Amino acid sequence: MENEIQNNIENEVKKNKPYKISKNKVIKFAILVVSIIIFIIFMVTIIKFLTSDYHKLNKMGYDKETAKKIVAIKKSEVVKKLDYNEKMLDILTSKYFIDKNLENYLNYYNNNKNKSIDDVIAIVNVHADKDFYSLELKTDTDLGNAMLVNKYYNLDENYEPELVNVKNWYSYGEQKVTEEVYDQFILMFDAAKEEDLTLIINDSYRSYETQKKTHKLYGDALAARAGASEHNTGLAIDIVTYGADGDDFDQTKEFAWLSKNAHKYGFILRYPKDKEYLTGYDYESWHYRYLGRDLATKVYESGLTYEEYYAYYIENK
Ligand SMILES: [Zn+2]
Repeated sequence: MENEIQNNIENEVKKNKPYKISKNKVIKFAILVVSIIIFIIFMVTIIKFLTSDYHKLNKMGYDKETAKKIVAIKKSEVVKKLDYNEKMLDILTSKYFIDKNLENYLNYYNNNKNKSIDDVIAIVNVHADKDFYSLELKTDTDLGNAMLVNKYYNLDENYEPELVNVKNWYSYGEQKVTEEVYDQFILMFDAAKEEDLTLIINDSYRSYETQKKTHKLYGDALAARAGASEHNTGLAIDIVTYGADGDDFDQTKEFAWLSKNAHKYGFILRYPKDKEYLTGYDYESWHYRYLGRDLATKVYESGLTYEEYYAYYIENK
């Protein structure tokens, strides 16, 4: 009997033994799984760090602060294209920075290190890093009053705006502009008249053919090529007054009045002083361009040339 009991106990122990071994196995297995998970997380973290924009910038030579700032302001696809440049952060944070121009900014800056970064941005945005007439971009005439015409954006010879004749009362010689320009000019003329000022249209629409002949006569230094003159749009007028019909116009009360009020009627001074390197045209105190009231006011308030405004706010939109 005792023997039988002893046997039973031994059997029980034997039965339980495998259970004890499997418990140990489970613990070992769990430890292994946790270790593998920790290892994977560790490796993923390392790989993530090594392939991060921050680490790449750091390796390129940017200090930690600069690298952090660049990552914070620019998308990964922009960061991927970066190289080391001592002015990179200034370029990326410049107000009128346009992503697609980055390579051109860097090229231009590297060859013109005396220029301010804001100038580099402006010059590249308006294509002034390229030679005049070298791009032959088409003017987007669908933009109507907002179209850009200059030494990079040209009208083709078939462009003919609808025009109305200006009464002699408002002009020297025969002048033509678009109807909207004419209506707004008359409002502007009347407003100036109330302050005893006289605005006279001295030049306006010029056809493609006329511009071609003018350019042939005077050359690039003195005349725009056909298709590159705003006078081809019917949206540009040269304004003068009695006794001042050229460079002296900016000494007149009429000019001072226009400087404060032209945008209210939709006109801007198109070729301001000291902006020749952006507009491609010498300072012309008499040349006004119609953009419409809203746009003219925005451009006026921005303090930008129309080239800069167009590049950033219209073309890049
Ligand atoms: Zn003009």
